[in-house]
Amino acid sequence: MLILGGTGEARRLAAELPGLVVSSLAGRVAEPRLPEGAVRVGGFGGVDGLVEWLRGNGITAVVDATHPFAARITANAVEATARVGIPLLVLRRPGWAPEPGDDWRWVGSLEEAAAGLPGGRVFLTTGRQDVGVFAGCPQFFLVRSVDPPEPPLPQRLHVLLDRGPFTVDGEVGLMREYRIDVLVTKDSGGGQTAAKLVAARSLGLPVVVVRRPPAPAAETVDSVAAAVAWVRRGSGGA
Ligand code: NAP
Repeated sequence: MLILGGTGEARRLAAELPGLVVSSLAGRVAEPRLPEGAVRVGGFGGVDGLVEWLRGNGITAVVDATHPFAARITANAVEATARVGIPLLVLRRPGWAPEPGDDWRWVGSLEEAAAGLPGGRVFLTTGRQDVGVFAGCPQFFLVRSVDPPEPPLPQRLHVLLDRGPFTVDGEVGLMREYRIDVLVTKDSGGGQTAAKLVAARSLGLPVVVVRRPPAPAAETVDSVAAAVAWVRRGSGGA
């Protein structure tokens, strides 16, 4: 089985299925957290490359456990598994939901977030690949990412290289230290509300939340346990 990874869920799934899977990473992060077991790194070369790789490696099922915003690889997985004639399961963690006290402003895209950005000092947590979208914005940006973002970049910028998990106290401290006016995040989702969202609520800060891309037309579960059950049922051909 192939697990398309790059997420905590993908790592947990690989750990639950020893000897059964090979995990695939895009190779975006210089020092990725590696899943247990067999791992391959790098793009496949579009749908055709993925089809060839699936056939060449005798893959009988694919679990797409990539990030909800990694829409291209998910679309490629839908098409490639259909062409090869093997099952695909999408593991997509639930999105976040606002709670009382939250001031969330939903937008449809990063471009929309950049165009309507309130506030003078922005905490941008959308990942280093997306910083360029904000290059033309006059605001001050505190950017946090695992690896440094590459140009084009906003003129007023401070980059913090860091990788979670983060604590609410730590996030509150950071937002105070940098006198943040607004938080920008994708609706990445996960088991519990992220510390940055709880921190923004406790400080009364608005949050610009970028909506997820549309869900793929494929069988989908929202937990690692459900994905393991799918594999054990034999739905994945394993
Ligand atoms: P994407 O835009 O959907 O995919 C772009 C290209 O990267 C794909 O066409 C594919 O290249 C390659 N690729 C992506 N994921 C891959 C994987 N798991 N294994 C092999 N190749 C992969 O993807 P993205 O948004 O750049 O995300 C890249 C990776 O980072 C994914 O593993 C994702 O789970 C992880 N990630 C993404 C985000 C995010 O916000 N987007 C956040 C956290 C983690 P080819 O066409 O050449 O095969």
